[in-house]
Amino acid sequence: MDMPPDFVTRTPLVDTFGRQITYLRLSVTDRCDLRCVYCMKARPDFLPKSELLTLEELTTLADAFIRRGVTKIRVTGGEPLVRKDVMTLIENLGGRIGANGLREICLTTNATQLPRYAKRLADAGVKRVNISLDTLDPDTFAALTRGGRIADTLAGIDAAAEAGLKIKINAVAMQSANRHALKDLIAWAHGRGFDVSLIEVMPLGDVDGERADQFLSLLDIRDDLESAWTLNDIPDTTGGPSRYVRIEETGGRLGFISPLTQNFCAGCNRVRLTCTGQLFMCLGRNGALDLRAALREGGPQAVDQMLDQAMALKPEAHAFDVSRGAATEVSRTMAHTGG
Ligand code: SAM
Ligand code: SF4
Repeated sequence: MDMPPDFVTRTPLVDTFGRQITYLRLSVTDRCDLRCVYCMKARPDFLPKSELLTLEELTTLADAFIRRGVTKIRVTGGEPLVRKDVMTLIENLGGRIGANGLREICLTTNATQLPRYAKRLADAGVKRVNISLDTLDPDTFAALTRGGRIADTLAGIDAAAEAGLKIKINAVAMQSANRHALKDLIAWAHGRGFDVSLIEVMPLGDVDGERADQFLSLLDIRDDLESAWTLNDIPDTTGGPSRYVRIEETGGRLGFISPLTQNFCAGCNRVRLTCTGQLFMCLGRNGALDLRAALREGGPQAVDQMLDQAMALKPEAHAFDVSRGAATEVSRTMAHTGG
């Protein structure tokens, strides 16, 4: 579809290190129907609903990024599909796919709501979903999500596959909880034609536990897997912290998302907008700009100016440091920033 004239790309978003920002991760809520132990506290302090950007504001802000050359938007949260009327936003964004607009909308989800939404997502133009699943064992799943039922997530995965969505499974690697279950999970996913990405626990926010106990280097996981399989490096990249291999025995693709043990910042192409309109230029830093205030006080023009300010402020690299017990200056959780 051709875009309306006001969508024609103006000055692209390029930061002071010459990196062009083409990818926005858009968080639509901090709420969730699960309570993953690495992500949030058992009793999280959710934001009052009045703090959240409205759906209209989310659409206006997304448009501001699209006009400046953002071609990919990932809708995330919290659990994006628990936000009431989220489909209206996604359908609006679907209308922005086309020349001079978006190339792609994707979604990160825990899949529990996919039986309701998978078909509508596909109809709206979503082609790919990242689904979080850390184990195939129902008891471990219940423990890791503090009460979740794996059957709900598996039903969501089936619904997504049936709707024709391409699926990638995201699994957070944890020292004791699932280290030895990852091989089975990968074999299962590859058997169904899904890519898998393994994620290192990142030290984001207070989650009622010790991060250093949770942390497991993906270099160790790679060693584990290489004792059973042949892992061949492949050059695929999304401009993020993933490094990919193809596993000879399964034929499937496996990504390692290792922000702590591998530096990925030089090719960074992304920024993150929280559900309250805070624009984070880097997941591993605290600096943010208030796009909600800019929009409410100065309208789209003020937002556009703030995007230039953001490019001047985007840091060269993150500040994660696992050697300090994984502590960093970053006090917000992944559910707040948008994973
Ligand atoms: N609720 C959706 C889901 O779980 O897919 C989307 C939001 S969730 C915050 C996005 C991703 O962040 C998930 O794959 C989750 O496993 C991951 N995640 C959450 N907290 C994390 C942490 N502290 N370190 C690494 N990954 C984390
Ligand atoms: Fe919810 Fe996703 Fe966080 Fe798990 S990782 S608690 S599913 S937001």
